[in-house]
Amino acid sequence: MANLIDGQRVAQEARIKIKNDIAHLQQERGITPGLAIIVLRSPFGRMHIAQLKERNCKQLGIKSQIISLPETETEEELAFLIERLNSAKDVHGINIHPLPPHLSHTRISQLVDPVKDVEGLHFLNMGRFLLGSTFLMPFVGRGIINLIESTGVNLEGKRVVIVGRSQLVGKPVSFLLLQKNATVTICHSETKNLTAFTRQADILVVAAGHPNTIKGNMVKEGAIVIDVGVNNVGTHLVGDVDYKEVEKVADWIPPVPGGVGPVTIVMLLDNVVRAAEQQ
Ligand code: NAP
Repeated sequence: MANLIDGQRVAQEARIKIKNDIAHLQQERGITPGLAIIVLRSPFGRMHIAQLKERNCKQLGIKSQIISLPETETEEELAFLIERLNSAKDVHGINIHPLPPHLSHTRISQLVDPVKDVEGLHFLNMGRFLLGSTFLMPFVGRGIINLIESTGVNLEGKRVVIVGRSQLVGKPVSFLLLQKNATVTICHSETKNLTAFTRQADILVVAAGHPNTIKGNMVKEGAIVIDVGVNNVGTHLVGDVDYKEVEKVADWIPPVPGGVGPVTIVMLLDNVVRAAEQQ
């Protein structure tokens, strides 16, 4: 049976450092970091995660606000809001929740002042990141690396397979893993014979957005499996990995929920503090 990777514990350890950094920022410069979370009320918006972020902010001493907008919001209306937040002195970071299909997250992210781009998705920050900068790195990727390293594994020379190549997850995490000297393969929906790749992985990162994408027979014995997926199935949240099958084969696996989610939230808030330090 696999060991459980406890995302809540990893998140809690990170919170202690962030709390210290915030106290320092307040004492030295009188700054309270501020985060604005933009949520469009659509099936993609994930208001409950925004509320979870708000609770985390409160615990840490970050001033947060959720800006809840109708699903029909236009790009022009969003641009106007972001312009206002860009010049608000008490907002140091802007987080945009997944948008409905008529809006492009990539395009909207370019409207955020790069110094407030706590998602790390502005092309300036993404470009700097690819050149090795550590300022405002993509937060989901950072969370995944933290979770993997919490197992005590040394990533150097490890064979890592990532299932998914999105801007938010697959691509940034692949680059962070390369920086750690892992050997990285990225798979996607057009990959032929996915199992042939996943079975070779010492570490398998799955961010496909579909339940049961990875079954037990697709995993190498003793692997670390990081399930990034969050899918609503009935009233339950499940990952992309068939947990019951994979826990029998893998050495380490996080639960869903309670794995990647709590750590990525904390990494987002860490970016808010880094952003506030620069403003
Ligand atoms: P996305 O933009 O939909 O990307 C999914 C990726 O998976 C795409 O690259 C797609 O390939 C690939 N894919 C889909 N089905 C596949 C299959 N059967 N075999 C191989 N590759 C497949 O999703 P995302 O934003 O990266 O999110 C992925 C999952 O992670 C979602 O469940 C999301 O809710 C979750 N998530 C969790 C957190 C967290 O903090 N816990 C944060 C972000 C996302 P193509 O490129 O060829 O289409």
